[in-house]
Parts: sequence; C-alpha cells; structure tokens
Amino acid sequence: MANKSIKISEREDIAPICPFCKNELDEIYYKTQGVGLFTGKNVIYFCPHCRKVLGCGQSRMA
Ligand SMILES: [Zn+2]
Repeated sequence: MANKSIKISEREDIAPICPFCKNELDEIYYKTQGVGLFTGKNVIYFCPHCRKVLGCGQSRMA
C-alpha cells in the first residue's frame, strides 16, 4: 500500500450530498440509542430526506 497523505480541507461553502437520494445535506439528523452513562451512546446519523443511515458512531456526551 502506498503511503499517501490525504489533504483535508474544511469547506463551509458547499454541502455534502446524500449518496442515496442525491439531495444536498444542509443538515443531518441523528438519533441516539443506549443508556450512555458508562458505555457511551450509539449515535446513528441519517439523511433528513430519505432517512437512510449515513453512518454511526459513539458519543460519550450524556
Ligand atoms: Zn438521502
């Protein structure tokens, strides 16, 4: 595997596009599951247009 570095640029002027419905994501909905106190919460991010899941992660914010 080539050891290429990827440049990451912050862009506030363009919106990401949902890979499913191709709508611009000027906002992303999320939903948390789990109790959260010690284990953290599972966060599910989804498209507000088609409600397909864009990704998930863990949040330790109560
Ligand atoms: Zn969508």
